Amino acid sequence: HHSAPTYWMKLLKLGFKVAIADQVEDAALAKGLVKRDIIKMMSPGCIDELEGLSSDAPNYVMAVHEIPETKRWCMAVADVSTGELRFGLIKSIDRLSEYLELFEPKEILCRKFFLETLKKRCAQYTNRKPVLFGTLPEGALQDLEGQKQLFRDIFGFDKLEIDNTNLDSGSGSLIYALIKHFISMHASVKQFLKIKPLKEKDTFVLNDTAIRDLEVFETAHQRKVEGSLYRQINQTLTPMGARKLRWNLAHPFLLTDPIKDRHNAVSELLACGEKQISKIRNLLKGFSDIERLSTRIIGKNIRPQELGRIRDSLSRALEINQTLQAEDVKFSKLLCSFINDLGQARGVLNKFENAIQESPGQLGEGHLVFKQGFDAALDELVDFSIHGHQQVENYLEKLKSETGIHSLKIKFHKTFGLVIEVTKSNLSKVPDFFVRRQTMVNCERFVTEELREIDEHLVSAKEKAIQKEMELYQSFVDDLSIHQNDLKSVSYSIAYIDMIQSFCWLSLKFDYCKPLLVGHDSLLTLEGSRHPVVEFFVGRHDFVPNDIKIDPNTKQILITGPNMAGKSTVMRQIAIGLILNQIGCFVPAIHAELPVFDGLYTRVGASDDLSRGLSTFMVEMTESAYILRNATSRSLVILDEVGRGTSTEDGLAIATAILEYISKSLNCWTMFATHYHELIDFAKNSSHIKLMKTEVLDKDGGISFTHRLVPGASGSSFGLEVAQLAGIPKGILDRAKYFLNAQRESDASLKQISDDSISDVKQESDSLAASSQSSQEASLFDGHHSENLVSDVSLLKLKDRLEKISINKTTPMRALSILNDLKVLACSASSKSLFDDRQN
Ligand code: ATP
Repeated sequence: HHSAPTYWMKLLKLGFKVAIADQVEDAALAKGLVKRDIIKMMSPGCIDELEGLSSDAPNYVMAVHEIPETKRWCMAVADVSTGELRFGLIKSIDRLSEYLELFEPKEILCRKFFLETLKKRCAQYTNRKPVLFGTLPEGALQDLEGQKQLFRDIFGFDKLEIDNTNLDSGSGSLIYALIKHFISMHASVKQFLKIKPLKEKDTFVLNDTAIRDLEVFETAHQRKVEGSLYRQINQTLTPMGARKLRWNLAHPFLLTDPIKDRHNAVSELLACGEKQISKIRNLLKGFSDIERLSTRIIGKNIRPQELGRIRDSLSRALEINQTLQAEDVKFSKLLCSFINDLGQARGVLNKFENAIQESPGQLGEGHLVFKQGFDAALDELVDFSIHGHQQVENYLEKLKSETGIHSLKIKFHKTFGLVIEVTKSNLSKVPDFFVRRQTMVNCERFVTEELREIDEHLVSAKEKAIQKEMELYQSFVDDLSIHQNDLKSVSYSIAYIDMIQSFCWLSLKFDYCKPLLVGHDSLLTLEGSRHPVVEFFVGRHDFVPNDIKIDPNTKQILITGPNMAGKSTVMRQIAIGLILNQIGCFVPAIHAELPVFDGLYTRVGASDDLSRGLSTFMVEMTESAYILRNATSRSLVILDEVGRGTSTEDGLAIATAILEYISKSLNCWTMFATHYHELIDFAKNSSHIKLMKTEVLDKDGGISFTHRLVPGASGSSFGLEVAQLAGIPKGILDRAKYFLNAQRESDASLKQISDDSISDVKQESDSLAASSQSSQEASLFDGHHSENLVSDVSLLKLKDRLEKISINKTTPMRALSILNDLKVLACSASSKSLFDDRQN
């Protein structure tokens, strides 16, 4: 059974449930078969063993429920391993995927009838990550009395309350059903001290698209943590710190004050100097997951070795407390309060003093857990079980001197236990209190009352020591569980200090700078700004930092430039700057002045959602629509090549309309990268849009990228040059050049056709209008013209022009474009023209 955990952890990781069966009565006392029962259930979302959990991420069970009375959907997420419990109403079940990406639940529960629908809705997520689906206990959802009772027992109030706000009973049903689910899994629920909202106030939630596009927690394509922003900036050293950083990355602050508080905390810790920070880092390095271990104290299933780890961590917490308190630096109120809270470790540590051994062993030996002197009765039992033979020796010596039989021996007999052996020649000296047990050829065997007692003690001492140790251990753990709040607050403080030191380390080792917070009417400045992940992969020396300045009056930036020139990188690094700044971290730049944004929206790259039946373009448009509905003038919007998922004409039209809407209506801070050079002309006519390009040096017949963002517009996408760099064979490149030239010629000729046609048609219409009795009715362009005459003339003209087009030199794409132009021309000439759909 010692190796069982290895197997059940494997099963849990694969998404199975595991039931642990054991004997539930003392085998020595049981009559017949010993009673067995399921003593513990484990599921992927219901694990409290540290080995089965990933240390830097929470382990949530998610439950969703539609409140019948209000028809509103609510959601609860709970982590049994830490006692985190969150609840809230959600906007719509359609946005479930956002919550899945955010919470990454291991298990999802809902009412039975909804299960199959839920599975379908989660399909895209569950294709990538194993999730166990389950049902909420129906009875619990209706049981209002039970609900009251349970809330009173656990949280100390009758009704569901979050941040002192009462919620309706419909909402309470979900929490109640979820807790009932945990109880049915034999999990402890006392660690759930309070209910937090799904989203902390004064923060905004990074939506799933931004998390994906900015590769916050994993890379977009391979879904690997390596290469993500989190991996790159995570310099925390404790599981609590890592989890706090993870939560914060997805929940940047909305207000200036909490951001400033964190910035100041980073500055203050930096003021202690690198040597002191390194000392604190060394102390943090050996820190155990006291948050989760303290939950195991409440669940009463903590092992002695784990208690040892808690104790060692608590003394490290005290050392950090003393190190920081001895500093000359004047810490701000917030940091001070966290440093002081570490002092609460002292009270708990006192409990450990003289109790648990330096390196405690397993329970069940009787002597490997508690220190000597902790409990006199245990000491005696242990002493007897370990040193029992000494007592036998002493008794032997006593008998020898009392009887004068020097050859007297005490031996162990299988049936009789300890016996005294006296040779035949000494039998006359045997005293009355010797009771005969066995006669042998040369000797006789006896017992005495005292020897029987020694024997009994000896045999049962070990068992008793084991029993006593167990009792003492249980009451020790009970006693510790009273200190749950102290442990929680030490663990919370460690998480905060660890995250702040992680921010300091980024500043020390990767030259991050403290941003100045400015208003939305000020210049956004990022000097020497870098993308932390791309910089890591291309190398510090090869990465080209960018100086970015965005004027609030021209805060829509249209970026053009060749493929691979660094458009996406520079846009993403601004977004990453926003996130880092608004979680209180410094930013990868030499100097930064940033406003506090109310949201970050991105639309980068192509991805499809085939499991939901959405094409690449549909996804692109859904995500763009979401941005347009939600962004405000205080948001940052990153749009990378909007419109590329459809035909050039449609794409260009949509991109133009979106850019127009953003600049005229939303006026959000926008980085808009595009390969549609037609947008440049549009942007030139808008006073809000600034043109920027990624710089390209075009020399000696080749191109090279400087990766610098500079003012202006790029004339070409250099697509063929980039294709050449990528290794497209020369033959294909030559053909591509041929097609490109053909296209350009065709463009020129089409432009000529268009110009000529429009002027010809206009001339004709003018002359027709002049000859017409009613000059107003004859206009070609007002729709009330003399249709037959005009259409005949136009048809002739268009036929003539069509003949001029060289089909061999026209690409299919170009042909469509020409067709479209001609149709426009023809329709404007006559509703009964050759190009009217109804006639063909
Ligand atoms: P496309 O138009 O094809 O999407 P892009 O212009 O958006 O290309 P990026 O994806 O941003 O180009 O950058 C391409 C590669 O160029 C990056 O993966 C990185 O290797 C390199 N790169 C980008 N920016 C820099 C920089 N500032 N310094 C050094 N290398 C960079």
